[in-house]
Amino acid sequence: MGPSDKKKIQHLLKVQRFQKHQILMYQKVMEGIRQDLEFKNLLKLIIRSVCQGLGFKRAGIFLVEPDGKSVRLALGIDKRGRYEKDRDRIPIINRRGCGNFSDIIYGYKKYFFSNDIPHRIPKKNNFRVPVVNNALVPLQFGREKAIGALAVDNLGENRPITMSDVQALMTFATEAGLAIESFRSHERMISLSFTDPMTGLYNRRFFDKALAQEIGRCQRYGRFFSLLLVDIDHFKKVNDTYGHDAGDEILKQISKILQINLRSMDVVCRIGGEEFAIILPETPHQNLVVVVNRLLKEVRQAEPLVPTMAYEKERVTISIGVASYNGGAVSPAELYKLADKSLYQAKKTGRNRSGPYYASSKTLQQAFLK
Ligand code: GH3
Ligand code: MG
Ligand code: MG
Repeated sequence: MGPSDKKKIQHLLKVQRFQKHQILMYQKVMEGIRQDLEFKNLLKLIIRSVCQGLGFKRAGIFLVEPDGKSVRLALGIDKRGRYEKDRDRIPIINRRGCGNFSDIIYGYKKYFFSNDIPHRIPKKNNFRVPVVNNALVPLQFGREKAIGALAVDNLGENRPITMSDVQALMTFATEAGLAIESFRSHERMISLSFTDPMTGLYNRRFFDKALAQEIGRCQRYGRFFSLLLVDIDHFKKVNDTYGHDAGDEILKQISKILQINLRSMDVVCRIGGEEFAIILPETPHQNLVVVVNRLLKEVRQAEPLVPTMAYEKERVTISIGVASYNGGAVSPAELYKLADKSLYQAKKTGRNRSGPYYASSKTLQQAFLK
């Protein structure tokens, strides 16, 4: 077996090792999509595959920022195997010769690599010169501009990066680019399918899922939460008087008021035309009185929602139905029904108020009733 055969075998082994990592990556992506894995874990997997699969000392995934004008280190691994991130943005410009990142992202270069090894390696006292052998390849997805770049180096080692390393890296980066993009478009799709486009709040579909999850969590861990149903009063009349467009503006403003006056952990959803549902985790009924009254007041006292209303001194108001989970084997539908019953009472007794505070556990019902 001659030296060129040996080289061929080494190359084949390298390709085989890399293919193993590619298959693993596909499996992880599919698993991630099925189980809502975090994006960060996909990046970690890519990095690990690059370092272990090809034996590079360090690797970094740089992704193009949403504005398209710069790249940022989304995840890297240093020579001790620790993960690192960077806030610094590296500008990219669509012109040849504006730096390696620009050239790679915009396709002026297919790859870049450099072996900065001195010709004479000093032997004195085994002194090792820190050399940087690095490579940069595009994270490509389709024929358009790359979505980022994969950087590798062999910091502190005298092992040069070969053309066959770069070729294997490029093949891998194409797959990695595809994996990243599939993951992101899946996440985008999920987030769109759970969002109400007019108000930006969660929609009915998300609410159903969140309510079931919250009941499950509280039953398992003995916790409690509250559910509010908010309905705008006489909204049909508002539409009839000021027009449908003004009605839409009012809907948006009330959505904002609800969001501003709640905690970030509270889940605000638009579940129907002028109906909202709010899940308040870890909120006992004592605190609920304050929250409910604040929402009623903030909507009532809001600046006139449409200019003509100021003149006519009219105000939009809301009614709120209240139900709390405080134990028991109650279903999401049953808890919803309690809140709806409370809302009905609020409407019946004059609107611009909350209904009775119902609770899931019958024995504690009295304590919750206003
Ligand atoms: P109540 O106090 O009993 O709740 O009276 P209401 O008029 O609000 O009740 P109802 O449920 O009968 O009417 C709801 C109205 O909300 C009907 C519809 O015109 C209006 N609406 C529903 N969705 C939208 C929307 O997206 N935009 C606008 N502008 N109006 C909407
Ligand atoms: Mg309604
Ligand atoms: Mg209404």
